[in-house]
Amino acid sequence: MSVSVGFISLGCAKNLVDSQIMAGYLKSGAVELAAAPESADIILINTCAFIDLAREEATETILSACAHKANGDCRAVIVTGCMVQRYRERLAEVFPEVDGFLGVDELDQIVPLVEQVAAGKSQVLMAAAGAAHRNFDPLYPTLLFTGGPFAYLKISDGCNHRCAYCAIPEIRGNFRSRSDRAILEEARRMVEAGVREINVISQDTLNYGADSLELPSIESLLQQIDQIEGDFRVRLLYSYPSSVTPELLELLNTSRHICKYLDLPVQHSHPEILRAMNRAAAVDATQDLTARLRAAVPGIVLRTTCLVGFPGESEAHFEHLLQYVKRSEFDHLGVFVYSPEEDTAAFGMEDLPDLEVAEERCERLMALQAQIVEKKLRLLIGREDELLLLRQEGELWYGRLPRQAPDVDGETMVAGLPATARVGDRVLVTITGFDEYDLEAAFLG
Ligand code: SF4
Repeated sequence: MSVSVGFISLGCAKNLVDSQIMAGYLKSGAVELAAAPESADIILINTCAFIDLAREEATETILSACAHKANGDCRAVIVTGCMVQRYRERLAEVFPEVDGFLGVDELDQIVPLVEQVAAGKSQVLMAAAGAAHRNFDPLYPTLLFTGGPFAYLKISDGCNHRCAYCAIPEIRGNFRSRSDRAILEEARRMVEAGVREINVISQDTLNYGADSLELPSIESLLQQIDQIEGDFRVRLLYSYPSSVTPELLELLNTSRHICKYLDLPVQHSHPEILRAMNRAAAVDATQDLTARLRAAVPGIVLRTTCLVGFPGESEAHFEHLLQYVKRSEFDHLGVFVYSPEEDTAAFGMEDLPDLEVAEERCERLMALQAQIVEKKLRLLIGREDELLLLRQEGELWYGRLPRQAPDVDGETMVAGLPATARVGDRVLVTITGFDEYDLEAAFLG
């Protein structure tokens, strides 16, 4: 087929993996992948619909692609992903200029959709009603949109938790694990292709295997990934706090490739707010979380996220969270202001703090975390660690240490690398300083 498709992938890394999977189907269907969306015949926008801000970004991107089409600069626009899954026909009504829509359960239909759109059809909607329930294995596991020597390995989709503020189960459906065979094959092929860092992702990573007696546990799956020969590291993202097991912690202590790093979104510390959030299962696990994990895994790096301004959050509840964050000293922490989401249990709950109050709480929490980060980064000065080189800008190289997850944890800048240095090299550095959330380092060898 003589059309090219260019991707704009919005939202999280899980969406990026879906974009890669669609690109794989297109490639196997002999559809050309454009180097950039602006130069493509068909612009494909893979959307996120998690919160208002994500939907606004998607809307702006769709409108600008449609304007590109109206100017005659491309032939068609296709919209895929969570926004289609969530709104289906409603979305088609809002964007009559869009030629094709594809839900998250129809990734394997991208080639027929492109064919129809290329043949001049418009407003083609391929998004089955009901909750998403499928998983997809990539046809080309090394077709990566990360633009670097790192990759995301999605091991499951959907979520069985029903956090009161979250629309993800509504969009992505119930939790389902991919086959362990397919995951291991994908990980092996990534390593063979030169991927040096595999970030294991899902909506609920530590729940892997819990949906089938045929599947291994997450610990066993990780052990098998750890046994793959090669020069690579593995990092776990998106884990529910109460799913951390002694076996997992032991694995972090003994594995060859897995970073001593956990991303455990606590969202809040006060039991009343956690229960109101329908996260009662996390109440016990949240208390003393960092102290327990640091005792079990010396040197572990811990990331979390907090949600402020949830309905019913009083100043006392927020003060509890402030004190918790102060005590816990997370290495990395993100804060979000609650925004009511349609089709969630919290939508319409009473006692919603004023937006101004919620934003001020967000700022206070971030200011506290900035102090914690400064103290912690100061303590890192003089430490040696292994830097994965991502890109060169003039004399300087930028990369990430095991303690730095992509997109969220900052980067490390290093000078003085030999001319032979290449993207994907892992080099030994000493940390020499920091600038807000980024680190500076000197090359050791
Ligand atoms: S665990 Fe995460 S994805 Fe699942 S419902 Fe809660 S916030 Fe949403």
